[in-house]
Amino acid sequence: MSRISFFWKIFISMFIVTCISLFILAVSFRLSLPRFFFRHMGEMNTMMRPGIQVMGNMLENRIFQIFGNTTNEALWISIPIALIITLLASWLISRQISAPLRNLFASAQSIADGNYQERVLLPANLQESQMDEIQRLSSGFNQMAASLEKTEEMRKQLIADISHELRTPLTTIKGSIEGLIDGVLPAQNDTYEHILTEATRLQRLVDDLQELSRLEGGSFSLTLQNFPLQPFLDKLFRQFQPLYERKGVQLTSDFQPNLGEIKADPDRLNQILINLLTNSLNYTPMYGKVTLSVQKTQTQIQFQVIDNGVGIAPEHLPHIFTRFYRADKSRSRTAGGSGIGLTITKHLVDAHGGSIQAFSEGLGQGSRFVFHIPVKVS
Ligand code: ADP
Repeated sequence: MSRISFFWKIFISMFIVTCISLFILAVSFRLSLPRFFFRHMGEMNTMMRPGIQVMGNMLENRIFQIFGNTTNEALWISIPIALIITLLASWLISRQISAPLRNLFASAQSIADGNYQERVLLPANLQESQMDEIQRLSSGFNQMAASLEKTEEMRKQLIADISHELRTPLTTIKGSIEGLIDGVLPAQNDTYEHILTEATRLQRLVDDLQELSRLEGGSFSLTLQNFPLQPFLDKLFRQFQPLYERKGVQLTSDFQPNLGEIKADPDRLNQILINLLTNSLNYTPMYGKVTLSVQKTQTQIQFQVIDNGVGIAPEHLPHIFTRFYRADKSRSRTAGGSGIGLTITKHLVDAHGGSIQAFSEGLGQGSRFVFHIPVKVS
């Protein structure tokens, strides 16, 4: 039975059911016929001459025999006609029912062959609530196909992005070494430092990619613990102060008193703040100012990193958490950025059940990165 196609399964089932119905109809018709016939004959007799039997039993039996033969002949003709019409109707209905499944199968086959843009056709403007089961299945299939297509596009884009990101430092390293071999570049510290900077950039890119793949692949988990927030922030502040001083950027804090404890992964929270404070340092020129503000409400803790640096143009703001997106490509490269830092940051905030947003009034107007972490991370 499993080798028979869905169409034939429906067709045969419908045909068998109809045959059984016709058989039962014919048998019950034949069995009930004498009872009804003689009852009606009896009624007719009384109607013609009340109280007196007009027709003899023999005549009645003869009429019944003729009537029985007539109905038999009628049945022998009408049952095959009904069967032929049933065959036709079953065939049409089976085709109707199995057609969407055949389409679905053809689309699945096409996607398996790599045509990710393949979709099952559904009537236009059809609401979810108006769909039957097969249309719902088709709609679910289309959603799955769309997400496969998106994943495939992202995979291609990722490979293109990584190749592009690797090419720049590799070309620089290769060019510098060739220059050294040919004697075009002097064998001195500047040249070696230049090579080292590019190698470091490569290393950071690979590290960031590895981290991102861990976060996106879900193969990481938070080590949540309760710890006092103030000493944690003080330590971070002490760590960043010299870096800011070296560049001539002022780092100030605005911590709400009595911050109390936070339940979070301290290493990951540290990583989030390091990414944001490093970005603000990179994108704020000398004599600029960066403030780290932390406020606590009943339900969440709000962290803000506010700078008065280069700012972000409105058209870039919605994309800066996308991997490899750089608002200012040359500036980010000079700063050694991989364009993945904010993507990692967003993943880490999301993992804590929080949310992160970036604000800027525009170029030259500074930036503000705000993220919230719920007080009770589950
Ligand atoms: P990168 O490593 O290039 O800094 P990120 O993912 O950390 O990558 O940041 C993405 C982009 O967002 C940066 O290239 C930069 O254009 C923009 N950006 C991030 N932080 C700031 C900031 N504080 N001020 C201005 N632009 C910023």
